[in-house]
Amino acid sequence: MPFYKNIQDLHIAEKRILLRVDFNVPLKEENGKRVVGDANRIEASLDTIRYIVEQGGKVILASHLGRPDGHVNPKYSLEPVGVKLSALLNKDVILSEDCVGDGPRALSQTLKGGDVLLLENVRFHAGEESNNAKFAAQLAELGDIFVNDAFGTMHRAHASTVGITHWIEEKAIGLLVQKELQFLEPLRTHPRRPFVLIMGGAKISDKMGIIEHFLPKIDSLLIGGAMAYAFLKAQGLEVGKSKCEDAQVGLAERLIKSAAARNIKLRLPIDHVVSKAFDDPNVEIVADIPADKMGLDIGPNTIELFKGSIETAETIFWNGPLGVFEKPYLAEGTFSVARAIADSKALKTAGGGDVAAAVAESGVEDRFDFISTGGGATLEYLEGKNLPGLQALEISKRERQREWEQEE
Ligand code: AMP
Repeated sequence: MPFYKNIQDLHIAEKRILLRVDFNVPLKEENGKRVVGDANRIEASLDTIRYIVEQGGKVILASHLGRPDGHVNPKYSLEPVGVKLSALLNKDVILSEDCVGDGPRALSQTLKGGDVLLLENVRFHAGEESNNAKFAAQLAELGDIFVNDAFGTMHRAHASTVGITHWIEEKAIGLLVQKELQFLEPLRTHPRRPFVLIMGGAKISDKMGIIEHFLPKIDSLLIGGAMAYAFLKAQGLEVGKSKCEDAQVGLAERLIKSAAARNIKLRLPIDHVVSKAFDDPNVEIVADIPADKMGLDIGPNTIELFKGSIETAETIFWNGPLGVFEKPYLAEGTFSVARAIADSKALKTAGGGDVAAAVAESGVEDRFDFISTGGGATLEYLEGKNLPGLQALEISKRERQREWEQEE
Protein backbone atom coordinates (compact mmCIF):
# COMPACT_ATOMS: atom_id res chain seq x y z
CA MET A 1 0.00 0.00 0.00
CA PRO A 2 1.44 3.40 -0.95
CA PHE A 3 2.05 6.00 1.75
CA TYR A 4 0.29 9.33 2.13
CA LYS A 5 0.60 12.18 4.57
CA ASN A 6 -2.53 12.51 6.69
CA ILE A 7 -3.91 15.95 7.50
CA GLN A 8 -3.24 15.17 11.18
CA ASP A 9 0.51 15.02 10.36
CA LEU A 10 0.59 18.71 9.43
CA HIS A 11 0.78 21.90 11.47
CA ILE A 12 -2.16 23.81 10.13
CA ALA A 13 -2.84 26.60 12.62
CA GLU A 14 -3.01 29.98 10.85
CA LYS A 15 -2.18 28.29 7.51
CA ARG A 16 -4.41 28.53 4.44
CA ILE A 17 -5.61 24.98 3.71
CA LEU A 18 -6.85 24.51 0.16
CA LEU A 19 -9.24 21.62 0.67
CA ARG A 20 -10.52 19.78 -2.42
CA VAL A 21 -13.95 18.39 -1.59
CA ASP A 22 -16.60 16.63 -3.63
CA PHE A 23 -19.61 18.95 -3.41
CA ASN A 24 -21.05 17.65 -6.68
CA VAL A 25 -24.53 17.33 -5.16
CA PRO A 26 -27.96 17.24 -6.81
CA LEU A 27 -29.79 20.59 -6.71
CA LYS A 28 -33.57 21.18 -6.81
CA GLU A 29 -35.95 24.15 -7.09
CA GLU A 30 -37.74 25.27 -3.93
CA ASN A 31 -39.90 28.44 -3.91
CA GLY A 32 -38.12 29.63 -7.07
CA LYS A 33 -34.66 29.11 -5.53
CA ARG A 34 -32.05 26.45 -6.19
CA VAL A 35 -31.31 24.43 -3.06
CA VAL A 36 -29.32 21.29 -2.26
CA GLY A 37 -31.41 18.16 -2.94
CA ASP A 38 -29.22 15.66 -1.10
CA ALA A 39 -26.52 16.83 1.32
CA ASN A 40 -24.77 13.45 1.78
CA ARG A 41 -21.56 14.55 0.09
CA ILE A 42 -21.42 17.81 2.03
CA GLU A 43 -21.96 15.93 5.29
CA ALA A 44 -19.18 13.49 4.37
CA SER A 45 -16.63 16.33 4.35
CA LEU A 46 -17.70 17.99 7.61
CA ASP A 47 -15.25 16.10 9.84
CA THR A 48 -12.26 17.39 7.88
CA ILE A 49 -13.61 20.95 7.70
CA ARG A 50 -14.33 20.97 11.45
CA TYR A 51 -10.88 19.52 12.15
CA ILE A 52 -9.20 22.39 10.30
CA VAL A 53 -11.43 24.97 12.02
CA GLU A 54 -10.66 23.49 15.46
CA GLN A 55 -6.93 23.52 14.73
CA GLY A 56 -7.15 27.22 13.81
CA GLY A 57 -6.47 26.67 10.11
CA LYS A 58 -8.09 28.76 7.35
CA VAL A 59 -10.37 26.59 5.21
CA ILE A 60 -10.51 27.29 1.47
CA LEU A 61 -12.86 24.84 -0.23
CA ALA A 62 -12.61 23.93 -3.91
CA SER A 63 -15.12 21.70 -5.72
CA HIS A 64 -16.81 21.06 -9.03
CA LEU A 65 -20.56 20.82 -9.55
CA GLY A 66 -22.17 19.31 -12.65
CA ARG A 67 -20.77 19.75 -16.14
CA PRO A 68 -20.60 23.44 -17.04
CA ASP A 69 -17.87 22.53 -19.57
CA GLY A 70 -15.47 25.37 -18.86
CA HIS A 71 -18.04 28.21 -18.93
CA VAL A 72 -19.63 30.26 -16.17
CA ASN A 73 -23.20 28.98 -15.80
CA PRO A 74 -25.30 30.14 -12.81
CA LYS A 75 -27.17 26.81 -12.97
CA TYR A 76 -24.02 25.16 -11.61
CA SER A 77 -23.08 27.79 -9.04
CA LEU A 78 -21.94 26.47 -5.65
CA GLU A 79 -23.93 29.21 -3.91
CA PRO A 80 -26.72 26.81 -2.71
CA VAL A 81 -23.98 24.51 -1.39
CA GLY A 82 -22.53 27.41 0.61
CA VAL A 83 -25.93 28.07 2.18
CA LYS A 84 -26.33 24.40 3.15
CA LEU A 85 -22.76 24.12 4.42
CA SER A 86 -23.19 27.21 6.58
CA ALA A 87 -26.33 25.67 8.14
CA LEU A 88 -24.57 22.35 8.77
CA LEU A 89 -21.49 23.97 10.30
CA ASN A 90 -23.55 26.57 12.12
CA LYS A 91 -20.98 29.08 10.96
CA ASP A 92 -20.57 31.77 8.28
CA VAL A 93 -19.26 30.52 4.95
CA ILE A 94 -17.71 33.21 2.76
CA LEU A 95 -18.51 32.71 -0.90
CA SER A 96 -16.07 33.77 -3.60
CA GLU A 97 -17.39 34.76 -7.05
CA ASP A 98 -14.59 32.87 -8.79
CA CYS A 99 -12.05 30.22 -7.90
CA VAL A 100 -8.93 31.97 -9.25
CA GLY A 101 -7.71 35.53 -9.81
CA ASP A 102 -7.49 38.75 -7.80
CA GLY A 103 -10.79 38.33 -5.90
CA PRO A 104 -10.16 34.93 -4.31
CA ARG A 105 -6.46 35.78 -3.79
CA ALA A 106 -7.34 38.90 -1.80
CA LEU A 107 -10.04 37.00 0.13
CA SER A 108 -7.64 34.18 0.99
CA GLN A 109 -5.25 36.72 2.47
CA THR A 110 -7.83 38.36 4.71
CA LEU A 111 -9.00 35.07 6.28
CA LYS A 112 -8.48 34.50 10.00
CA GLY A 113 -7.82 31.12 11.65
CA GLY A 114 -11.07 29.10 11.68
CA ASP A 115 -12.70 31.00 8.76
CA VAL A 116 -14.30 29.06 5.91
CA LEU A 117 -14.17 30.27 2.29
CA LEU A 118 -15.97 28.41 -0.51
CA LEU A 119 -14.57 29.00 -4.00
CA GLU A 120 -16.93 29.05 -7.00
CA ASN A 121 -17.15 25.95 -9.26
CA VAL A 122 -13.69 25.01 -10.58
CA ARG A 123 -15.30 23.67 -13.78
CA PHE A 124 -16.28 27.23 -14.78
CA HIS A 125 -12.71 27.24 -16.18
CA ALA A 126 -11.71 24.96 -19.07
CA GLY A 127 -8.29 24.56 -17.42
CA GLU A 128 -9.79 22.41 -14.68
CA GLU A 129 -10.68 19.37 -16.79
CA SER A 130 -7.74 19.81 -19.16
CA ASN A 131 -5.42 19.85 -16.12
CA ASN A 132 -3.92 23.11 -17.37
CA ALA A 133 -0.70 24.00 -15.56
CA LYS A 134 -1.37 27.76 -15.47
CA PHE A 135 -4.84 27.28 -13.99
CA ALA A 136 -3.46 24.79 -11.45
CA ALA A 137 -0.76 27.31 -10.46
CA GLN A 138 -3.42 30.03 -10.01
CA LEU A 139 -5.43 27.74 -7.73
CA ALA A 140 -2.30 26.86 -5.80
CA GLU A 141 -1.69 30.55 -5.02
CA LEU A 142 -4.65 30.39 -2.65
CA GLY A 143 -3.25 27.81 -0.24
CA ASP A 144 -0.15 27.08 1.84
CA ILE A 145 -1.16 23.42 2.14
CA PHE A 146 -3.22 21.23 -0.23
CA VAL A 147 -5.50 18.59 1.25
CA ASN A 148 -7.58 16.31 -0.94
CA ASP A 149 -10.72 14.88 0.64
CA ALA A 150 -12.68 14.35 -2.58
CA PHE A 151 -12.51 10.58 -2.91
CA GLY A 152 -15.23 10.64 -5.60
CA THR A 153 -12.99 12.62 -7.99
CA MET A 154 -9.70 10.79 -7.39
CA HIS A 155 -10.04 8.95 -10.73
CA ARG A 156 -9.88 12.25 -12.64
CA ALA A 157 -6.54 13.89 -13.51
CA HIS A 158 -7.80 17.47 -13.27
CA ALA A 159 -6.12 20.72 -12.20
CA SER A 160 -7.69 20.73 -8.74
CA THR A 161 -6.82 17.07 -8.07
CA VAL A 162 -3.49 16.48 -9.86
CA GLY A 163 -2.07 19.68 -11.46
CA ILE A 164 -2.20 21.60 -8.19
CA THR A 165 0.05 19.08 -6.43
CA HIS A 166 2.96 20.28 -8.60
CA TRP A 167 2.64 23.79 -7.19
CA ILE A 168 2.09 23.23 -3.47
CA GLU A 169 4.78 21.42 -1.56
CA GLU A 170 2.82 20.36 1.52
CA LYS A 171 -0.01 18.00 0.63
CA ALA A 172 -2.06 15.41 2.46
CA ILE A 173 -5.24 13.36 2.45
CA GLY A 174 -8.27 14.36 4.51
CA LEU A 175 -10.25 12.33 7.04
CA LEU A 176 -12.83 11.09 4.51
CA VAL A 177 -10.20 9.77 2.09
CA GLN A 178 -8.43 8.08 5.02
CA LYS A 179 -11.66 6.29 5.94
CA GLU A 180 -12.31 5.24 2.34
CA LEU A 181 -8.82 3.72 2.08
CA GLN A 182 -9.09 2.06 5.48
CA PHE A 183 -12.09 0.03 4.23
CA LEU A 184 -11.45 -0.28 0.51
CA GLU A 185 -7.78 -1.31 0.64
CA PRO A 186 -8.28 -4.52 2.68
CA LEU A 187 -11.41 -5.23 0.65
CA ARG A 188 -9.50 -5.17 -2.63
CA THR A 189 -6.42 -7.01 -1.38
CA HIS A 190 -7.36 -9.53 1.33
CA PRO A 191 -11.10 -9.70 2.13
CA ARG A 192 -12.16 -12.16 4.81
CA ARG A 193 -13.79 -15.23 3.28
CA PRO A 194 -16.45 -16.23 2.45
CA PHE A 195 -16.64 -13.04 0.40
CA VAL A 196 -19.97 -12.37 -1.32
CA LEU A 197 -20.02 -9.83 -4.15
CA ILE A 198 -23.46 -8.46 -5.02
CA MET A 199 -23.73 -6.59 -8.32
CA GLY A 200 -26.71 -4.77 -9.81
CA GLY A 201 -27.57 -1.51 -11.53
CA ALA A 202 -27.69 -0.68 -15.19
CA LYS A 203 -24.24 0.36 -16.46
CA ILE A 204 -22.81 -3.11 -17.03
CA SER A 205 -19.81 -1.98 -19.04
CA ASP A 206 -18.54 0.00 -16.03
CA LYS A 207 -18.82 -3.02 -13.78
CA MET A 208 -17.42 -6.02 -15.60
CA GLY A 209 -13.89 -4.96 -14.61
CA ILE A 210 -14.62 -5.17 -10.93
CA ILE A 211 -16.17 -8.65 -11.28
CA GLU A 212 -13.10 -9.82 -13.21
CA HIS A 213 -10.76 -8.34 -10.63
CA PHE A 214 -12.59 -9.95 -7.73
CA LEU A 215 -13.00 -13.45 -9.24
CA PRO A 216 -9.89 -14.87 -7.49
CA LYS A 217 -11.10 -13.52 -4.14
CA ILE A 218 -14.84 -14.20 -3.99
CA ASP A 219 -16.89 -17.22 -2.94
CA SER A 220 -20.31 -16.13 -4.21
CA LEU A 221 -21.38 -13.72 -6.92
CA LEU A 222 -24.99 -12.52 -6.82
CA ILE A 223 -26.17 -10.58 -9.86
CA GLY A 224 -29.42 -8.63 -10.14
CA GLY A 225 -30.60 -5.39 -11.75
CA ALA A 226 -30.30 -4.87 -15.49
CA MET A 227 -26.82 -6.44 -15.29
CA ALA A 228 -28.40 -9.86 -14.83
CA TYR A 229 -29.99 -9.93 -18.28
CA ALA A 230 -26.64 -10.07 -20.10
CA PHE A 231 -25.78 -13.13 -17.99
CA LEU A 232 -29.20 -14.76 -18.55
CA LYS A 233 -28.91 -14.08 -22.29
CA ALA A 234 -25.44 -15.64 -22.26
CA GLN A 235 -27.12 -18.78 -20.87
CA GLY A 236 -29.52 -18.76 -23.80
CA LEU A 237 -32.54 -17.58 -21.78
CA GLU A 238 -35.27 -15.21 -23.01
CA VAL A 239 -34.94 -11.70 -21.55
CA GLY A 240 -37.82 -10.13 -23.50
CA LYS A 241 -37.59 -6.35 -23.71
CA SER A 242 -35.39 -6.06 -20.59
CA LYS A 243 -32.58 -3.52 -20.62
CA CYS A 244 -29.59 -5.50 -21.82
CA GLU A 245 -26.20 -4.40 -23.15
CA ASP A 246 -25.81 -6.91 -26.00
CA ALA A 247 -22.15 -5.99 -26.43
CA GLN A 248 -21.51 -7.42 -22.94
CA VAL A 249 -23.13 -10.84 -23.49
CA GLY A 250 -19.86 -12.39 -24.74
CA LEU A 251 -17.99 -11.14 -21.67
CA ALA A 252 -20.81 -12.38 -19.42
CA GLU A 253 -20.41 -15.83 -20.99
CA ARG A 254 -16.68 -15.82 -20.24
CA LEU A 255 -17.29 -14.69 -16.66
CA ILE A 256 -19.83 -17.51 -16.16
CA LYS A 257 -17.16 -20.01 -17.30
CA SER A 258 -14.42 -18.46 -15.12
CA ALA A 259 -16.73 -18.48 -12.09
CA ALA A 260 -17.54 -22.17 -12.66
CA ALA A 261 -13.83 -23.05 -13.07
CA ARG A 262 -13.12 -21.36 -9.71
CA ASN A 263 -16.03 -23.04 -7.92
CA ILE A 264 -17.65 -19.67 -7.27
CA LYS A 265 -21.36 -19.87 -6.50
CA LEU A 266 -22.88 -17.70 -9.21
CA ARG A 267 -26.48 -16.77 -8.38
CA LEU A 268 -28.62 -15.24 -11.13
CA PRO A 269 -32.31 -14.31 -10.83
CA ILE A 270 -34.68 -17.31 -10.98
CA ASP A 271 -37.82 -15.15 -11.00
CA HIS A 272 -38.59 -11.59 -12.01
CA VAL A 273 -40.99 -8.70 -11.53
CA VAL A 274 -41.97 -7.82 -15.10
CA SER A 275 -44.09 -5.21 -16.81
CA LYS A 276 -44.90 -4.08 -20.35
CA ALA A 277 -43.02 -0.78 -20.00
CA PHE A 278 -40.60 0.95 -17.69
CA ASP A 279 -43.31 3.01 -15.97
CA ASP A 280 -46.25 0.60 -16.30
CA PRO A 281 -47.26 -0.32 -12.71
CA ASN A 282 -49.16 -3.44 -13.87
CA VAL A 283 -46.45 -5.82 -12.76
CA GLU A 284 -46.46 -9.59 -12.39
CA ILE A 285 -44.00 -12.15 -11.03
CA VAL A 286 -42.77 -14.74 -13.50
CA ALA A 287 -40.08 -17.42 -13.69
CA ASP A 288 -39.54 -16.89 -17.42
CA ILE A 289 -39.63 -13.42 -18.96
CA PRO A 290 -42.22 -13.24 -21.77
CA ALA A 291 -40.95 -11.83 -25.09
CA ASP A 292 -43.13 -8.70 -24.82
CA LYS A 293 -42.20 -7.79 -21.20
CA MET A 294 -39.22 -6.37 -19.37
CA GLY A 295 -37.63 -7.51 -16.11
CA LEU A 296 -37.57 -4.62 -13.62
CA ASP A 297 -36.85 -6.24 -10.24
CA ILE A 298 -35.81 -9.61 -8.83
CA GLY A 299 -38.67 -11.85 -7.65
CA PRO A 300 -39.33 -13.42 -4.19
CA ASN A 301 -37.59 -16.74 -4.93
CA THR A 302 -34.47 -14.88 -6.05
CA ILE A 303 -34.54 -12.85 -2.84
CA GLU A 304 -34.56 -16.11 -0.84
CA LEU A 305 -31.77 -17.55 -2.99
CA PHE A 306 -29.62 -14.44 -2.42
CA LYS A 307 -30.36 -14.47 1.32
CA GLY A 308 -28.88 -18.00 1.55
CA SER A 309 -25.49 -16.72 0.34
CA ILE A 310 -25.65 -13.52 2.39
CA GLU A 311 -26.24 -15.44 5.64
CA THR A 312 -22.94 -17.34 5.40
CA ALA A 313 -20.75 -14.39 4.37
CA GLU A 314 -17.85 -12.91 6.34
CA THR A 315 -17.46 -10.02 3.90
CA ILE A 316 -20.05 -8.43 1.60
CA PHE A 317 -19.55 -5.73 -1.02
CA TRP A 318 -22.67 -4.49 -2.77
CA ASN A 319 -22.75 -2.34 -5.87
CA GLY A 320 -25.87 -1.39 -7.79
CA PRO A 321 -29.61 -1.70 -7.03
CA LEU A 322 -31.27 -5.02 -7.90
CA GLY A 323 -34.27 -3.40 -9.57
CA VAL A 324 -35.71 -0.01 -10.48
CA PHE A 325 -35.92 0.84 -6.76
CA GLU A 326 -36.88 4.46 -7.45
CA LYS A 327 -40.43 3.13 -8.08
CA PRO A 328 -41.99 1.74 -4.88
CA TYR A 329 -43.55 -1.26 -6.68
CA LEU A 330 -40.09 -2.23 -8.02
CA ALA A 331 -38.11 -1.69 -4.80
CA GLU A 332 -38.82 -4.90 -2.90
CA GLY A 333 -35.81 -6.81 -4.27
CA THR A 334 -33.34 -4.04 -3.45
CA PHE A 335 -34.79 -3.28 -0.01
CA SER A 336 -35.09 -6.97 1.03
CA VAL A 337 -31.48 -7.62 0.09
CA ALA A 338 -30.40 -4.46 1.95
CA ARG A 339 -32.20 -5.74 5.07
CA ALA A 340 -30.69 -9.22 4.67
CA ILE A 341 -27.20 -7.68 4.47
CA ALA A 342 -27.93 -5.52 7.54
CA ASP A 343 -28.93 -8.70 9.46
CA SER A 344 -25.78 -10.63 8.50
CA LYS A 345 -22.71 -10.94 10.71
CA ALA A 346 -20.39 -10.07 7.80
CA LEU A 347 -18.36 -6.91 7.29
CA LYS A 348 -21.03 -5.02 5.35
CA THR A 349 -19.81 -2.60 2.70
CA ALA A 350 -21.37 -0.93 -0.33
CA GLY A 351 -20.42 1.68 -2.86
CA GLY A 352 -20.08 2.87 -6.42
CA GLY A 353 -22.92 4.76 -8.12
CA ASP A 354 -26.50 4.61 -6.95
CA VAL A 355 -26.26 2.03 -4.21
CA ALA A 356 -25.77 4.56 -1.40
CA ALA A 357 -29.18 6.08 -2.17
CA ALA A 358 -30.73 2.59 -2.29
CA VAL A 359 -29.29 1.63 1.12
CA ALA A 360 -30.40 4.96 2.61
CA GLU A 361 -33.94 4.52 1.31
CA SER A 362 -34.16 0.96 2.61
CA GLY A 363 -33.69 2.42 6.11
CA VAL A 364 -30.77 0.22 7.18
CA GLU A 365 -27.90 2.57 6.36
CA ASP A 366 -26.75 2.74 9.99
CA ARG A 367 -26.25 -1.02 10.14
CA PHE A 368 -23.71 -1.08 7.31
CA ASP A 369 -20.06 -0.92 8.35
CA PHE A 370 -19.10 1.31 5.45
CA ILE A 371 -20.72 2.96 2.44
CA SER A 372 -18.23 4.47 0.03
CA THR A 373 -18.90 8.03 -1.17
CA GLY A 374 -17.23 7.38 -4.52
CA GLY A 375 -18.97 6.25 -7.71
CA GLY A 376 -16.58 5.56 -10.59
CA ALA A 377 -13.58 6.23 -8.32
CA THR A 378 -14.60 3.44 -5.95
CA LEU A 379 -15.14 0.96 -8.77
CA GLU A 380 -11.80 1.83 -10.39
CA TYR A 381 -9.98 1.57 -7.07
CA LEU A 382 -11.49 -1.85 -6.35
CA GLU A 383 -10.60 -2.96 -9.88
CA GLY A 384 -6.98 -2.38 -8.92
CA LYS A 385 -6.50 0.70 -11.10
CA ASN A 386 -4.32 3.59 -9.95
CA LEU A 387 -6.31 6.72 -9.16
CA PRO A 388 -4.36 9.76 -10.45
CA GLY A 389 -5.57 12.03 -7.62
CA LEU A 390 -4.24 9.61 -5.02
CA GLN A 391 -1.02 8.88 -6.91
CA ALA A 392 -0.28 12.62 -6.94
CA LEU A 393 -0.30 12.59 -3.14
CA GLU A 394 1.93 9.56 -2.59
CA ILE A 395 5.03 10.01 -0.49
CA SER A 396 8.07 7.73 -0.42
CA LYS A 397 8.67 5.14 2.29
CA ARG A 398 11.65 7.19 3.44
CA GLU A 399 9.50 10.31 3.84
CA ARG A 400 6.94 8.29 5.81
CA GLN A 401 9.67 6.95 8.11
CA ARG A 402 10.93 10.48 8.68
CA GLU A 403 7.38 11.49 9.70
CA TRP A 404 7.21 8.61 12.15
CA GLU A 405 10.56 9.51 13.67
CA GLN A 406 9.41 13.09 14.18
CA GLU A 407 6.20 11.86 15.83
CA GLU A 408 8.13 9.70 18.34
P1 AMP B 1 -25.95 2.01 -11.81
O1 AMP B 1 -25.68 3.48 -11.82
O2 AMP B 1 -25.29 1.27 -12.92
O3 AMP B 1 -25.69 1.39 -10.47
O4 AMP B 1 -27.51 1.84 -12.14
C1 AMP B 1 -28.49 2.28 -11.26
C2 AMP B 1 -29.81 2.28 -11.99
O5 AMP B 1 -30.11 0.96 -12.44
C3 AMP B 1 -30.97 2.67 -11.11
O6 AMP B 1 -31.43 3.94 -11.49
C4 AMP B 1 -32.02 1.58 -11.36
O7 AMP B 1 -33.31 2.12 -11.62
C5 AMP B 1 -31.49 0.90 -12.60
N1 AMP B 1 -31.96 -0.50 -12.70
C6 AMP B 1 -31.86 -1.46 -11.78
N2 AMP B 1 -32.45 -2.59 -12.21
C7 AMP B 1 -32.93 -2.34 -13.43
C8 AMP B 1 -33.66 -3.12 -14.39
N3 AMP B 1 -34.00 -4.38 -14.16
N4 AMP B 1 -33.99 -2.51 -15.57
C9 AMP B 1 -33.65 -1.23 -15.81
N5 AMP B 1 -32.97 -0.44 -14.95
C10 AMP B 1 -32.61 -1.00 -13.76
